[in-house]
Amino acid sequence: MIKIFQKTFRVGIKSKTLPELQNTDTIPVLHRKIFKIFGRSLAIRHVDAGSCNGCELELQALNNPYHNIEGYGLHFVASPRHADILLVTGPVSVNMEQALKKAYQAVPNPKWVVALGDCGSCGGIFGENYACRGAVNNVIPVDATIKGCPPKPNEILKEILNMIMLKEPSRVITSLKP
Ligand code: SF4
Repeated sequence: MIKIFQKTFRVGIKSKTLPELQNTDTIPVLHRKIFKIFGRSLAIRHVDAGSCNGCELELQALNNPYHNIEGYGLHFVASPRHADILLVTGPVSVNMEQALKKAYQAVPNPKWVVALGDCGSCGGIFGENYACRGAVNNVIPVDATIKGCPPKPNEILKEILNMIMLKEPSRVITSLKP
């Protein structure tokens, strides 16, 4: 244990702060805003609705200590019932349509939906076809999109933080057409 502490003091903190957040006042403001809207830190549930897994690799990278997302008050959760943001990747495949609607309904209000990647935003290279509904917005209401194929981890983080700083929850919807 002593060796770990010694190494920590020797090496210092290696996580990266986004250039936009270098101003030391920004992070406390962000924490206050998240607390005001959700009453606690911000929980994100990721749903893969038919992705090629490229976006998932970037989400995996976003979760490593270098990006320090928990330092911003964000964390990923295993259940939509514990989530504030539904982060959806991929074009929505027909086989995932009902599962996505159920996950959306399970997220308590207030909630935001973020469509990640070109596929989630507009259908991407898959578009709409016999097996695919295309953009996430074709299935559930979307509050924000993050474009890119795939978007980089710092772009994902920046867009989520921008959304928190700029937006209030836009809608409260509890039911969808079957
Ligand atoms: S946006 Fe690109 S990386 Fe992401 S699921 Fe679509 S094809 Fe894959």
